[in-house]
Amino acid sequence: MEKSLDNFEQPIEKKDESPLCLCGCGKHVGEGRSHKKYFSDGHKNLHHNRLKKKNLDEIRLIDTELKKNQKILKELLDEKEFQIVTKGALQARGYNFKYHTHIFTSATGNDFCVCYNYAYRKLDNGKYKIIGESEKGSLA
Ligand SMILES: [Zn+2]
Repeated sequence: MEKSLDNFEQPIEKKDESPLCLCGCGKHVGEGRSHKKYFSDGHKNLHHNRLKKKNLDEIRLIDTELKKNQKILKELLDEKEFQIVTKGALQARGYNFKYHTHIFTSATGNDFCVCYNYAYRKLDNGKYKIIGESEKGSLA
């Protein structure tokens, strides 16, 4: 039986060994362009815009939580000079203890977790003291 040479007559496609485009499209950046990272400028822009959007989305999520926290503290303080509440009161409103804008240390040396212009501090009895920025004192 004669052996077929068909398999050997198939043209062998030259393999593109240049790196894959960073945008994730699966294309190679192209022959002789091993210093390149992207298939084209369009792919580069697409990749950068995706990263930028992802980062903005992350920030937006945190901003939303911070604004919500600020609103909760403001509502609980209810325009008083300070307010003492339970952790449950904060939790019931959906307070997210993970986020605050900065730390404010009072004249008496107590650290408050601040959300923009309102702040809280956990007291020794497990309750929470809420204060707000006023004409008398800033929380900066
Ligand atoms: Zn690409």
